[in-house]
Amino acid sequence: MSEQSEVDEMEQEHVPAKQKTFKKNAHIAYFTRCLKALPSQAEGQDGNRITIAFFCLSALDLLGQLHTFSEEQRKGWIEWIWRLQSSSGGFRGSTCMDIPDENQPGHLPSTYTALMCLGILRAPLDRLDVVALGKFLRSCQAADGSFSPTPIHDDSPLTSRFENDLRMTYCASVIQYLINVNIDISSAQRLIHRCRTWEGGYASKPGVIESQEGGTTYCAIASLSLFSSNSESIDIEGVYEEMKMVEQEATLRWALQRQIGGFQGRPGKLEDVCYSFWIGATIHILGHPQLIDSLSDLSFLLSAQSPLGGFGKDPEAYPDPYHSYLALAAISLSHPDLGLLSLDPRLNVSNDTADYLMKEMKRIRTKI
Ligand SMILES: [Zn+2]
Repeated sequence: MSEQSEVDEMEQEHVPAKQKTFKKNAHIAYFTRCLKALPSQAEGQDGNRITIAFFCLSALDLLGQLHTFSEEQRKGWIEWIWRLQSSSGGFRGSTCMDIPDENQPGHLPSTYTALMCLGILRAPLDRLDVVALGKFLRSCQAADGSFSPTPIHDDSPLTSRFENDLRMTYCASVIQYLINVNIDISSAQRLIHRCRTWEGGYASKPGVIESQEGGTTYCAIASLSLFSSNSESIDIEGVYEEMKMVEQEATLRWALQRQIGGFQGRPGKLEDVCYSFWIGATIHILGHPQLIDSLSDLSFLLSAQSPLGGFGKDPEAYPDPYHSYLALAAISLSHPDLGLLSLDPRLNVSNDTADYLMKEMKRIRTKI
């Protein structure tokens, strides 16, 4: 019996007959196509290329396809990512063909995705400038504990910090977790705490309650978990520790209430594939994955598959790399029987890749 038909058969035992099967081979073809199309797409000014590369590479990792890359392809990708490393620390989002821009500063989300891609490709990390990366990370942190996508200068106007939200805090928390650099963790934790709403979800910034949704709540919970892994002092003025359990229960309740078959991002919204990951992973990090109705979630996810591979945000939408990757990540977390590699819900890469990154970071840290 082929691997695919085994997967299909296992899936049919668990899911009502009218549901579609998990199209593993079609998804492999979809992400292979996306990755091949990437170099010719949006050359030059597109800062999101490393993010799209991350969705494709991490999907192919979860699908167990890394061994199908030729050594030449793998090295080609690794070289491209090293060219994104800024001389002042961190990574940029893309290389510009015409202008030598190694002095351009790094960008926090691109640095997170570049590090994950290097891990997925099993690149030796000797070329990583850890000292400059630490300086870069510290230079992105504002006095209120928030993080900016690029370094903050003394003369930066406050309005330039409109992107300082919990997505940046999440990227910073992963990098801090990997390189264990000294940043102001207490003020970052305090800022996350100020984003909390009375319902238990988290807004993207303090005081912007209408922005509370699954993605920002994931960023809050994953960051708190990662910060507490490296930090001895997770207490916020003596209050945080005391409230932690009560708060976690409220957040868990808020997250579980978002399941309406699949998951909605916030109350009153329709199901969307990406929230099966953002909220599903939040519930996993909070330690209660058994409370997810994983069969209903899977039914919705499978219904959003394209016959040619990939997932749209819902059954009516065309597939895109973002929703396709997050659907696979969600399935990996809740359905280990469907043949995907297991996922680290905090780093959002396979556990194998997370282990590799931690080992490599430890190895290169002992050298500096
Ligand atoms: Zn979505």
